[in-house]
Amino acid sequence: MTKPAIAPATHRVETRLVHDGQTRSPFGETSEALFLTQGFIYDNAESAEARFLNEEAGYSYTRYSNPTTTIFEERMASLEGAEMGQATATGMAAVTAAMMGQVKAGDHVVAARALFGSCRWVVEDLLPRFGVGCTLVDGPNLDEWRAAVTPATKAFLLETPSNPSLEIIDIAGVAEIAHEAGATLTVDNVFASPLFQRPLALGADCVVYSATKHIDGQGRCLGGIILASVAFIETHVQQFLRMTGPTISPFNAWVLLKGLETLPIRVERQTETAGFLADFLAEHPKVQHLTYPGRADHPQAELIRRQMTGGSTMIALEVKGGKEGAFRFMNALKLIRISNNLGDAKSLVTHPSTTTHQRFTPDLRLEMGIRDGLVRFSVGLEHRDDLLADLDRALAEV
Ligand SMILES: *Cc1c(COP(=O)(O)O)cnc(C)c1O
Repeated sequence: MTKPAIAPATHRVETRLVHDGQTRSPFGETSEALFLTQGFIYDNAESAEARFLNEEAGYSYTRYSNPTTTIFEERMASLEGAEMGQATATGMAAVTAAMMGQVKAGDHVVAARALFGSCRWVVEDLLPRFGVGCTLVDGPNLDEWRAAVTPATKAFLLETPSNPSLEIIDIAGVAEIAHEAGATLTVDNVFASPLFQRPLALGADCVVYSATKHIDGQGRCLGGIILASVAFIETHVQQFLRMTGPTISPFNAWVLLKGLETLPIRVERQTETAGFLADFLAEHPKVQHLTYPGRADHPQAELIRRQMTGGSTMIALEVKGGKEGAFRFMNALKLIRISNNLGDAKSLVTHPSTTTHQRFTPDLRLEMGIRDGLVRFSVGLEHRDDLLADLDRALAEV
């Protein structure tokens, strides 16, 4: 295997996403090779011994590492400005490993209340089974983070913009509180995408992604990744992943790697279209309320300017008429389809209060900004005028 000489620090993101991390086999292939193999052959018994002792570099078993997966991890680390990345089978495997890897019985975590449903289950239901306490706070309110800290607090977790209400949390502010408490901050950066928000540069210790979303971007493979310093990964994450085995398939890592090559053009186009559609929807008489991080009327526009470099591919829109209005609207859409996924080339809508956030009581949903008329809209790569026509026709049915 050879590594072509490139100078990442001097290259811009678009260039790094095409080239970084690439290694070539002796065949000199242009595209990254897919090493669909479970294991690796050692030249002799001494070499196997040396590799198990970590005295010789090389691969031993794909649950530990794989050359295709390594390229994906290195390209993601370059994009994020992280020292190291560890890929996982799904975004949830990344969140679970990042949190469980940091705590033991008697420890305590603090997390924002408005989390992706499964992330919230991990901190609120799973961790307490193993004697780890958890306090949920109103993410944008820094005083609540400060008040939640106990002498046992080891880790903070947040997601911004939040799913599905697109509320923004001050990453630098929360990181400072975490560090004063001797704790770490992990940020789930899915909704911002690695292009528009850099949590590590803002003081976070660890960033997690569901690569299933914008990184694949074409609705094919599940995947996830944890990005942090070498010390963080080696202390908290690496052994947990290697021994428990939520390993990404090299095939999925390869698909995601190819997804990274087109990430900037896809996400930029989707964001541009989202901004255009958000402006149309915000003025529409059938729309009760709209939240879009790229608009000047977002309640946290000032924080967005400080922390993000782009809007989002997601729009949170509240249709008039509550659940009935939202259902009529969604059922009348023809081009935009109903699916709980996001970040796809295909535009998708979901009704959070009856699907992703169904298990919460109405009061808890309201606390998370989820009203019955709320529809989460993931903007795809279709022509913006076709999307606008579909929305306009469907809103007429409300
Ligand atoms: C989808 C998602 C996850 C979970 O990712 P999977 O790849 O589905 O496991 C976690 N956090 C956020 C914000 C997500 O959107």
